[in-house]
Amino acid sequence: MATTVHQEKSFRENVNLVFDIAAATLQISDGLAYYLKGVYNVYQVRFPVKIEGKVESFIGWRAVHSEHKLPTKGGIRYSPLVNQDEIEALAALMSYKCALVDVPFGGSKGGVVVDPKKYDDATMERITRRFAYELIKKDYINPATSVPAPDMGTGPREMAWIADTYMEHRPDDINALGCVTGKPVSLGGIPGRTEATGRGVVYGIREFFRHPEDRKRAGLEGTLEGKTVIIQGLGNVGYHTAKILEAEDGAKIIGIIEHDGALMDHNGLSVEKVNTYNKEHGGVKGYPDAQYFENGNAILEEKCDFLIPAAMEGVIHMENAPRIKANLIAEAANGPVTFGADAILRQKGVVMIPDIFLNAGGVVVSYFEWIKNLSHIRFGRLTRRHEVSQNDLLLKAIESNGHKIPTGLAEKLLHGPNELDLVRSALDDTMRDAFQQIRDRYWSHDKIESYRIAAMAIGIEKIALSIQDRGLYP
Ligand code: NAD
Repeated sequence: MATTVHQEKSFRENVNLVFDIAAATLQISDGLAYYLKGVYNVYQVRFPVKIEGKVESFIGWRAVHSEHKLPTKGGIRYSPLVNQDEIEALAALMSYKCALVDVPFGGSKGGVVVDPKKYDDATMERITRRFAYELIKKDYINPATSVPAPDMGTGPREMAWIADTYMEHRPDDINALGCVTGKPVSLGGIPGRTEATGRGVVYGIREFFRHPEDRKRAGLEGTLEGKTVIIQGLGNVGYHTAKILEAEDGAKIIGIIEHDGALMDHNGLSVEKVNTYNKEHGGVKGYPDAQYFENGNAILEEKCDFLIPAAMEGVIHMENAPRIKANLIAEAANGPVTFGADAILRQKGVVMIPDIFLNAGGVVVSYFEWIKNLSHIRFGRLTRRHEVSQNDLLLKAIESNGHKIPTGLAEKLLHGPNELDLVRSALDDTMRDAFQQIRDRYWSHDKIESYRIAAMAIGIEKIALSIQDRGLYP
């Protein structure tokens, strides 16, 4: 399937246009706003890897957008389409995102121009270790200053190789495991990190649905149960989002768009079955239990309660925006709606839950993982058994007064929270709190016309405040 991306401006320019509108709603000086918009520094590297006896050159970047808090945080993307503009845009989004959800990190992003589908595992490991080494050499990977994470085309496997490469070069760093997040649990990762971005998307949508005033803006009533959903991209973010919406909320996933076409079933697709097929066949074409469309992008324009772009940037643009029929767009990917499309959609009454809020779950749980690595102990290890015995005493005290506690409830109280329970509930709390800040700003400010501007304004404001409070800048 050919992907036509009508990106009116570059990704970086799109982010800056949103920044300008949001900054104009704040009391910050032009000088500070100008500083906050720009990327702090970018490192470009070319490195050779010997593949099947031949030398191939790869090009990659690590951009740091803001160091107002350290370490800086941002994923590493593997894609044949990666470019410096995109990495800078993504680094900027990371700064605003972290500030918005109160994660005390600066913003950064990395990427390598490589198609992971083209190489075997051993070659991908060599490419990853070599890129990691180039970044370590320049201190662009370090638990104190710069901590990457997964993004498009990378996952726990690549993060494990990066952590191992760092440990090889810095064996005396006691916090070495904190040099990267999104690692497998066996290597200092945290349960719930792989699903975190998708789960955060769902927690964000649930919070939106808890507010009737906000729901009404999108013409939606009731709960998520039975709502029709079309999702683009069944990768890490898209799969977990779709799976949780289907399994825990009873939403109906009627469309799944992948790189080689789309599947539709108005009765609801089985996310697990499509995912298994997609993994086994490298695409969705040929899936037997749904209608297949070769032009997957056209399915973005089908009627549904909400559309979840979870693949890449710039997929909803000025050309297709007038034909979008969804009431709500939940931006799981970074930058899926261009600046030009945003204006068209708002005029049509489409409500958008913006990326810097909605896909923040990944960095939130990365923050938990980093804290775990620095404290060298899993969450709850010191307290869980104590909590359980306190609950046991409480239950016995209540029962000694003749009250019988229902078995299910007693079992829950005597189970105590494991690390996954703690991660999920803290993520939920963060997403609820951040959406409440966004809606408060949106409903209370005349000049703020969207959640996107509200979210960006809150992010910029928090960064500006932390810089001003340090007294480093005017
Ligand atoms: P991924 O590589 O795991 O998955 C991307 C999926 O999109 C793949 O299944 C791919 O085949 C599909 N795809 C690619 N091009 C497509 C197209 N033109 N149409 C339809 N599908 C297409 O990537 P991911 O980690 O899930 O990231 C997806 C988006 O979410 C990106 O914008 C990324 O920056 C953002 N994001 C990811 C994380 C994270 O924790 N992984 C966190 C925040 C934001």
